[in-house]
Amino acid sequence: MKSSSRNPRRDFLKTSLFVGGSFLLFPGSIYACQNREQIDYPSYVKLEREGILAKRVEEAYAIYEECRLCPRECGVNRIKGEKGFCRAPAGLKIYSANPHYGEERSLVGKGGSGTIFFSHCNLRCVFCQNWSISHEGHGKKIKETDLAGTMLYLQKIGCHNINVVTPTHIMPSILRALRIACQKGLRIPLVYNTSGYERVEMIKVLDGIADIYLPDMKFMNSRMAEKYSGGAADYPDATKKAVIEMNRQVGEHVTDKRGIAVRGLMIRHLVMPNRVSGALEFAKWVSENLSQTTYVNIMKQYRVEYKAFDYPAIWRRITVREYLEAMEWAESYGLTNLDPDSVKAMEIYRSREQRAGS
Ligand code: SF4
Repeated sequence: MKSSSRNPRRDFLKTSLFVGGSFLLFPGSIYACQNREQIDYPSYVKLEREGILAKRVEEAYAIYEECRLCPRECGVNRIKGEKGFCRAPAGLKIYSANPHYGEERSLVGKGGSGTIFFSHCNLRCVFCQNWSISHEGHGKKIKETDLAGTMLYLQKIGCHNINVVTPTHIMPSILRALRIACQKGLRIPLVYNTSGYERVEMIKVLDGIADIYLPDMKFMNSRMAEKYSGGAADYPDATKKAVIEMNRQVGEHVTDKRGIAVRGLMIRHLVMPNRVSGALEFAKWVSENLSQTTYVNIMKQYRVEYKAFDYPAIWRRITVREYLEAMEWAESYGLTNLDPDSVKAMEIYRSREQRAGS
């Protein structure tokens, strides 16, 4: 399950308004595009006009019959009720949907990011902050028309985007809902907020549909991924391939006149204790495989959650020094588009370290 960028996500979930099935058929309000880059967004509208979206949605939906939506490639028929590693049904199950003010600034703006949390997860990390949702599948089953209504409602109340969190295992259902919402007037960007454990073939299905990709790159070492994320030893390889494809599709982070993100790739890397996440290798990989101006958020809010208490290397929070060394590696590899809040945190931590040393 993904982690939030500034405020603890679990706190947000506790206070969020549960919406499953409640919002139907809100009239879509057309969102005014104040677009300095002349980027045509949201991109799914163009695909719908061209008649491509419908075809893409149904192609994606057929994958449920022999599920290979993620690198686990379970091959189960989810339409018939079989369950794979993620334990998710074919239909939609959501925990909450609300404006979220804890995401990156350009996603939040004034109106918040229209965040929809889905139950279950294909990665299932031992340190998951949202384990009751992602591991145990808490949430409410809803129809695709309900989810479309929820998307329209989030737009209506002023959210700047639709931010689908942990979407990988129900991507086809999300696309169906998105299409319904698009036909009813949804006009804000789609943020694909993923753990990064993706099949590149499935990311290609999203070409021209997702406006903003928000992937984690949690581990750069396959042994760490295997140990802490449900045996997913192929996580680093799968994620690297997926991120390169995401970058090919949407390019770098672009904002409108208000500073609101309208398109692009935004990568998150959560620093873990004892260099478990591989922050140095992460910074090196980004600088060598993407542009050095790629938006990167080095996150500091690792907490000991769920089964992390059973793993000595990760049963504490990170130190100030561990966070600073991660940021310094990012700088030393020339990454210049670091999340502004992470830069502010670095400055505060540096002055704290200097005071402690003087
Ligand atoms: S989405 Fe779930 S069922 Fe499908 S391949 Fe991944 S883990 Fe298996």
